[in-house]
Amino acid sequence: MNQGLEDFTPAALLRRAEPCLWLNPQRQALLPAALPVAGGCIGAQDTQAAAARLARFAPLLARLFPELAASNGVIESPLLPAAGLQQALGLAPGQGRLWIKADHRLPVAGSIKARGGIHEVLEFAEGLAVQHGLISAQACPADYLALAEPAARTLFARYTVAVGSTGNLGLGIGVAASALGFRAVVHMSLEAKEWKKERLRRRGVQVVEHAGDYESAVAAGRAQAAADPYSHFVDDERSLSLLLGYSAAALHLRQQLLDAGIVVDAAHPLFVYLPCGVGGAPAGITFGLRHVLGPHVHCFFAEPVQSPCFMLQMMAGQGGNPSVYDWGLSNQTEADGLAVPRASLPAAELMAPLLSGCLTVRDETLLRQLVQVLEATGERIEPSAAAGFSGPGMLTGSDAGQAWLRGQGLLAHLPRATHLVWTTGGLFVPDEEYERFVQRGRALAV
Ligand SMILES: *Cc1c(COP(=O)(O)O)cnc(C)c1O
Repeated sequence: MNQGLEDFTPAALLRRAEPCLWLNPQRQALLPAALPVAGGCIGAQDTQAAAARLARFAPLLARLFPELAASNGVIESPLLPAAGLQQALGLAPGQGRLWIKADHRLPVAGSIKARGGIHEVLEFAEGLAVQHGLISAQACPADYLALAEPAARTLFARYTVAVGSTGNLGLGIGVAASALGFRAVVHMSLEAKEWKKERLRRRGVQVVEHAGDYESAVAAGRAQAAADPYSHFVDDERSLSLLLGYSAAALHLRQQLLDAGIVVDAAHPLFVYLPCGVGGAPAGITFGLRHVLGPHVHCFFAEPVQSPCFMLQMMAGQGGNPSVYDWGLSNQTEADGLAVPRASLPAAELMAPLLSGCLTVRDETLLRQLVQVLEATGERIEPSAAAGFSGPGMLTGSDAGQAWLRGQGLLAHLPRATHLVWTTGGLFVPDEEYERFVQRGRALAV
């Protein structure tokens, strides 16, 4: 082994499945009012529209889901201080303060999919209800309670909502669709977690298992739904409704930051670290945050070393749509929510001017950090949800991160920075399953 000959560029590290940090040379500080995506354009008003839709449905959601009664139908998560975790993550006291956006606690879906997945089901239901005269296009939130009545349920029962998923999107879509009265079909890969399939079946959702990976489950579901006019397919690789549902999180986070006294401006940068699978969830949130908080928010996507599809896509540009298999990687990871071989092209297109960078993480690190999170905060997260915790250390502690911070003029502002790690799932992980993660994480720590 000759250290001098080893290549430490992101491409070489990726190929060797070693953790790496890639910084986006195309990021722009100032944004146009609308951004091109999938042949159309979206802007800040689309995030507002998604948030308004979620608000219109809130009374109905509170009625359908007892766990939403206390929040009056609002599906949200807390912003948690995490100073006790800083040292373990390698974030020195003078390098900013650590917070957690706790989407692992999101009700109904138990993951970040409660945002985008449920939004898309609601948008589909709303369109049908207006088209069939059950509510008017100007209906008030209270009018939406009519959608829990027999006329609406009979209408919805004629339709199928289908989705292809590694697990969590299926949980979100399946539970929301079946609660409204739709038939729900979730296409999953054989290796998807058994407890996720079980939970869906218990809710009356049809689970179709496919021999291949996530990508083949999506393709099969898409083809099956295309042949049926009474079927709506939630397309994780292409859907803008999903993406905009996720983006609405930014409006709520803005208020949480205000309430916590966290300032975001040139002298107080905000770094956000988001676990990334196909890219829709983190891209939606980044889109929302860049509009709502401006140029001083820097978003980074975090992926497993064996499934860095979004980083590959960002490096390739829109000319290609590379798969992790092309790079000799296995797509095998304990982070099942992130085990995606090929990124969403629309998400990557949208991220070209918005995203600050991508990073990759080993499975052992995910499991170790899952334990550190438990010990420092008592929070229970799943392995996918731990991906962002490598971010602060890699950004502030690596040569590439330091050089980028200096180049961006951010180094001097680091002491007043906020590092926000987005934890994306965990609420419904069964105790025995979670205990196994903890034991494996503890074994790795020694
Ligand atoms: C789905 C998911 C993500 C990433 O979302 P994508 O839209 O696939 O990028 C991250 N974490 C968890 C736990 C998820 O379920």
